[in-house]
Amino acid sequence: MRSFTYERATTPADAAKAVAATKNAKFIAGGTNLLDLMKLEIEAPTHLVDVTRLGLDRIENTEGGGLRIGALVSNTALSAHPRVRADYAVLTRAIQAGASGQLRNKATTGGNMLQRTRCPYFYDTNMPCNKRQPGSGCAAIGGVSRSLGVIGTSDACIATYPGDMAVAMRVLDATVETVKPDGSTRAIPAGDFHRLWGDTPHIETVLEPGEFITHVTLPKPLGGKHFYAKVRDRRSYAFALVSVAAVIQPDGTGRVAFGGMAPKPWRVAEAEVLLPQGAKAVVDRAFADARPTADNKFKIPLAQRTLASVLADAKA
Ligand SMILES: Cc1cc2nc3c(=O)[nH]c(=O)nc-3n(C[C@H](O)[C@H](O)[C@H](O)COP(=O)(O)OP(=O)(O)OC[C@H]3O[C@@H](n4cnc5c(N)ncnc54)[C@H](O)[C@@H]3O)c2cc1C
Ligand code: SF4
Repeated sequence: MRSFTYERATTPADAAKAVAATKNAKFIAGGTNLLDLMKLEIEAPTHLVDVTRLGLDRIENTEGGGLRIGALVSNTALSAHPRVRADYAVLTRAIQAGASGQLRNKATTGGNMLQRTRCPYFYDTNMPCNKRQPGSGCAAIGGVSRSLGVIGTSDACIATYPGDMAVAMRVLDATVETVKPDGSTRAIPAGDFHRLWGDTPHIETVLEPGEFITHVTLPKPLGGKHFYAKVRDRRSYAFALVSVAAVIQPDGTGRVAFGGMAPKPWRVAEAEVLLPQGAKAVVDRAFADARPTADNKFKIPLAQRTLASVLADAKA
């Protein structure tokens, strides 16, 4: 690990200003992703701004009947919150399908949204990787790509966004609230938060330098039955090959987003309206433009079968 300096921020705006003021500075929240990357020297920040004492660890009701979640709320606290369990169960299920109890105790809402890919070549500093070192190439294209993306990828990068929580946030139409270094704030719809890779796979979200997530807000509850189905190589402690977050209403309509398939939680409005016609219709439309590799083309029928099992459970 390279040496770095450290400070503890006292307000969200000061945190944003502090990160913007130093070249290659980073926020540190739970540290469960960043510290691993620093130990492997995949990330080498020169300055860390600790954001854990900013009072952003509360979950509050909004006037519109929704929930406003502080960016420092732990994954454990969020998944266990009585209103989340009752009204946003897809979120509880998605969080509890991820990582381990110990990790979820440390991992934060903001940090989880920003966790980096699990492409094996990204973690191997001997291999070319456009995301780790822009312009160096992509070892996964033509390499082992079983766990990687089938849609929204590019000739520069075929990695996926690996997380679970954000897939549920996408289905719930969450909004990410931020503060910028100049003190201005903005609200970013979850669907616009993660970028497709294009030619710049090292830029993973629409956040500007120093922009800090303060909250994630959920609109009023949708009702319906909530599901999060995650298919992985082990029963626990593994990232999704394919996941399905869905909220299904009694008449068979609903919402669905897929994880493990793309640079972002994958939700397609034109596919979602086909839910009453069944899983094949939805997956055929959602992945019509897929460009899978020979290694990972199995993910598309797997997504169809996973959604079919969710829809069968919804009818039960
Ligand atoms: C062994 C292991 C297994 C895992 N399995 C899963 C899994 O199955 N599913 C899953 O979804 N996740 C999994 N994870 C990932 C885990 O959920 C993330 O590491 C965690 O959510 C990151 O949150 P954090 O608070 O620790 O972030 P940190 O590591 O502190 O930060 C991550 C990044 O976000 C930035 N950041 C943090 N907070 C903010 C903020 N408020 N505003 C702007 N930038 C910010 C940091 O600068 C950093 O770049 C696993 C992790 C490990 C180590
Ligand atoms: S798929 Fe992306 S993360 Fe993986 S090696 Fe290629 S550029 Fe790097």
